Amino acid sequence: MKITPIIGLEVHVELKTKTKMFCNCSATHFHIDPNTHTCPVCLGLPGALPVPNKTACEWCIKLGLALGCSANLISFFERKNYFYPDLAKGYQLTQLEKPFVINGKINIDGHDIRINRAHMEEDTGKSVHITENGQDLTLIDFNRCGVPLVEIVSEPDIISPEMARNYLLKLQQIIRYLGISDADIEKGSMRCEPTINLKIEKDGKDFYTPLVEVKNVASLTGVQNAIQFEINRQTQEFEKTGEEKSKTNKTTRGWDADKNQTFLQREKEGSSDYRYFPEPDIPHIEFSDAEIAKIKSEIPELPDQKFVRYQKDLGLNDYDVTQLLADVNFSAAFEKSIGQNPTAAFAKFNANLFLGAIKTYFNESKDDLDINRINFDYFKNLFDAVSKSEISATAAKYLIVESYQSQIDPVYIAKNEGLIQVSDTSAIENFAKQVIESNPKAVEDYKKNPASIGFLIGQLMKASGGSANPSLAKEILERLLGP
Ligand SMILES: [Zn+2]
Repeated sequence: MKITPIIGLEVHVELKTKTKMFCNCSATHFHIDPNTHTCPVCLGLPGALPVPNKTACEWCIKLGLALGCSANLISFFERKNYFYPDLAKGYQLTQLEKPFVINGKINIDGHDIRINRAHMEEDTGKSVHITENGQDLTLIDFNRCGVPLVEIVSEPDIISPEMARNYLLKLQQIIRYLGISDADIEKGSMRCEPTINLKIEKDGKDFYTPLVEVKNVASLTGVQNAIQFEINRQTQEFEKTGEEKSKTNKTTRGWDADKNQTFLQREKEGSSDYRYFPEPDIPHIEFSDAEIAKIKSEIPELPDQKFVRYQKDLGLNDYDVTQLLADVNFSAAFEKSIGQNPTAAFAKFNANLFLGAIKTYFNESKDDLDINRINFDYFKNLFDAVSKSEISATAAKYLIVESYQSQIDPVYIAKNEGLIQVSDTSAIENFAKQVIESNPKAVEDYKKNPASIGFLIGQLMKASGGSANPSLAKEILERLLGP
């Protein structure tokens, strides 16, 4: 029996435009007093007329183009009718027949995942459940209602939970590099609904388990676990019944993250249940080839392209590049720090600082890296000083964080704090002579065991107040102590 999972992902991404999708209300809805960003349009009051947000439409197209999709030059909005307490109109404006962009693909681990479409729609409000005076109450906040939402629908080309996770990470990365959304799964600005069934080859025949859509998955790990749970559950179901169920029998299951399992919610509605029809209050939206070309030209360098450039032009290894590109802010700061046409040694030096001391500092402080505080000259000065052995590599880690915080040249800080290494041979020789004279026991030990020189180097560093260049100190001690 051979089992192949067939996994598709529907991903919703909230765009961070200033205003909502069809009205002028602010699209900000985190940490805002409830129902303060609302108007007759997003509250669905009778007679209110929706006007599409041009930026949101262009961002949806930009995302699609970045995913290799082609744009429909004419598209329109439809009403998707369903009742939900936090959807005041009783329908959601979305795109069914003519989405903005179609037919793209992204490559995950050498495997092409086709993108069926990316279309524009609007978010719903939020229900908040509370208990007051022993009564269970549901409150509704419409601040999120009408916030622009792009839905990206993949074909069911994903074959493992890990691949689903990597697909989401890649999508998230592209969206963040485009600067159109925070795409934060934990905060809900990126949401994912996996659909899963299995192809089972047994006794020369192919069987398909019924399709399941999983809702309410609120983390990357949750997506991976929910898919794995469904693979196991559907395999067991098949082994129990040993027969294929109807392929059209789609069901919706919820995800319980605490119990780490899915549970049956409802038989899924087909699109006919939603009685889609074109929105009569919004004309068709047309883009010219030139307008699409202009949007395409505004796509910044994306992570895949940066990956190749960092390797080829900067000579960085796979691991460093992956780590640097993982965070859009980090990679932007790194690029600013190396300036134009850096040498490979300078790029590697800065990459080490970013992936070491700087990353540790931000992980511990929980601050956000502010790209405006990055001074290219400071990195260059520090690099030159380390290259000349004036500053040790260890001190450089400390100095770069200090200089970021204080906005002072790291070399200046090093001078002030006595971190400039003495590379003056005669000065070090003097320290070495002192140390040899006052440590006869250690000198004797060294004669028996040259590996014990570490102690004498330590004493020399101490005598110099930490300012001696350690490799030079070792060299001079060895010379003075003789073979
Ligand atoms: Zn509004």
